[in-house]
Amino acid sequence: MDADVAIIGLGPAGLQAAIHAARKKVKVVALGKSESSALNKAEVVNFFGILSMAGPELLRIGREQAKNFGATIVEEDVMKVVKDGDEFKIITETDLEIRAKAVVLAMGASRAKLNVPGEASLVGRGVSYCASCDAGFFRGRTVAVIGEESEAAESAILLTEYAAKVIWVHRELKVSPNMLQKAAAAKVEMVPGDPTKIEGEASVTGLELKDGRRLDVQGVFITLGAKGSMELALELGLLPDPSGRIRVDENCRTDMEMVYACGDVTGSPWQLARAVGQGAIAGDNAARAVRQEKS
Ligand SMILES: Cc1cc2nc3c(=O)[nH]c(=O)nc-3n(C[C@H](O)[C@H](O)[C@H](O)COP(=O)(O)OP(=O)(O)OC[C@H]3O[C@@H](n4cnc5c(N)ncnc54)[C@H](O)[C@@H]3O)c2cc1C
Repeated sequence: MDADVAIIGLGPAGLQAAIHAARKKVKVVALGKSESSALNKAEVVNFFGILSMAGPELLRIGREQAKNFGATIVEEDVMKVVKDGDEFKIITETDLEIRAKAVVLAMGASRAKLNVPGEASLVGRGVSYCASCDAGFFRGRTVAVIGEESEAAESAILLTEYAAKVIWVHRELKVSPNMLQKAAAAKVEMVPGDPTKIEGEASVTGLELKDGRRLDVQGVFITLGAKGSMELALELGLLPDPSGRIRVDENCRTDMEMVYACGDVTGSPWQLARAVGQGAIAGDNAARAVRQEKS
């Protein structure tokens, strides 16, 4: 599939970027899952012109608007985005390939916590939220990957290149059959279960599950959700700051030509008004850049 502007993220920032880019008559493809948007959990009472509205309803309307203006919505997670000559190549969880002239990053701020005892005190000492950042520290070790979605699958597969054994602990799986096949081919061990405690003092020594089982692991990767903004940006060649924030200028341009970013992924305040404000700027400028107009 070809696009002028590919937008990664179907939250308010990505959808507003899709609306503004599509209105400039360029071909727009927007990817992601609205149910994973932070807004999906919100009841919004502080947005201009709206007294009170449930987040999922705002997202539903936003998707409709983007489609009505001509954007194509692809409800899949992006696993990879790379520069390829003058274009960008985007690969999704079902191996769909999209080639685009400009990219808007609108993946939100993730790093969902597991919220179990041992997690906070062992971050950096065996607990990690980023496999592509920390896999190299676990050569020859046994590690657990916790999560249900595409990021967990990809993290587990990546870790098999470093760790001696990778155990993927999951509740209800929400990944494509394609990702599951890849995990099986990489010899990831699947363990259904509910983690209740990460053990260890100086470093991680084990993971306890609700049914009383204990896994002997030296690393725990918490990967709840889609592939994180930090990993996608790093692979693309952008260096986010240590908190995972992607730097942008007042036109929502990143440090990389034809790459824009908007919303929570660019920092706080994490608010709808800021997300859609930046989404409009990023979408508009990405479309102008493709049309070689001045912004
Ligand atoms: C409980 C709660 C209540 C809130 N209440 C309010 C409020 O009352 N008022 C207010 O102004 N703000 C509120 N917020 C904050 C607001 O929801 C966020 O600031 C806003 O949703 C940010 O929009 P965003 O598009 O940047 O990111 P998000 O809405 O988080 O959307 C991120 C999108 O990126 C996608 N994505 C991530 N990784 C990938 C990937 N690898 N491939 C493809 N897609 C990907 C996700 O699927 C999602 O669609 C609340 C947030 C929460 C959690």
